[in-house]
Amino acid sequence: MPNYQQIINDIHANLKTTKNTGEVADYIPELGKVDGELFGIYLNNVHGNNFEVGDTQVPFSIQSISKVFSLAMAFANQGNALWERVDVEPSGNPFNFLSLLEREKGIPRNPLINSGAIVIADCLVSNLKNPKEDFIQFVRGLAGDDSISFNEQVAESERITGFRNYAIANLLKSFENLANPVEEVLDFYFHQCSIEMTCEQLSNAFFAFANHGVCMRGNQCLTQKQAKRINAIMLTCGFYDEAGEFAFEVGLPGKSGVGGGIVALLPNHYVITTWSPPLNEKGNSYFGMQALEQFTTETKSSIF
Ligand code: GLU
Repeated sequence: MPNYQQIINDIHANLKTTKNTGEVADYIPELGKVDGELFGIYLNNVHGNNFEVGDTQVPFSIQSISKVFSLAMAFANQGNALWERVDVEPSGNPFNFLSLLEREKGIPRNPLINSGAIVIADCLVSNLKNPKEDFIQFVRGLAGDDSISFNEQVAESERITGFRNYAIANLLKSFENLANPVEEVLDFYFHQCSIEMTCEQLSNAFFAFANHGVCMRGNQCLTQKQAKRINAIMLTCGFYDEAGEFAFEVGLPGKSGVGGGIVALLPNHYVITTWSPPLNEKGNSYFGMQALEQFTTETKSSIF
């Protein structure tokens, strides 16, 4: 096994001495309050070992990383019927892009961009008895940690500034690809994005995707096939219009969020989570992208 601790220590220390040219997202005002200096790397492997360096125990806003959890829950609930309402192709566009949706008649390109995640949120609102509660319980189950919660202030901050998400939801509604009221679906969506987790909790929650659907606590949270399909979607669609670049530089399935988190995984081996709030111009963590590029190069462990 590579000396993971040494490798992540070196990457963390080296990046800390370089200039971070990214910018902390502030289009959701609450996110802009985060300290841009925080930086953590956490790795857990399928043999039960874990390694960490930096600010791995500070909870942060997972934002779009939550789209993997909502997709997993909706896919587990309703199986392949899901793909009638959302496609599985990369979009090559920013996460909140609107015109593709108009051109493609209300069928989002994939579940990891906002339009697709809003359709998935609609499925969960239709299928769950207590949507927000049931969803947070699902995430807690994946992570094996009952302390994970929504941040109501972040959800509210996003609601009052979420003009593009309202536009997307209304467009979906006009194409009859939204069954529930726009306000109800977006309330769920803003809450899922507001979930706060640490690097450690995220790595634990993604364990099932590296481990054929078997969670941290040893139960089969997802089927093997669901884990395989979701990993494929992460690889091709997990980084907005930088998915090709992430495959090229890092070579792992993964998902980023505008809170500065990135989770990536090598099936059968490990999950690695990085968190550094300043984002590059495509909305992905500037240090996170570099840390992961260096990590898979150093450990020779991309899927390619
Ligand atoms: N809640 C954010 C939004 O919808 C998520 C963006 C992201 O992390 O990509 O704008």
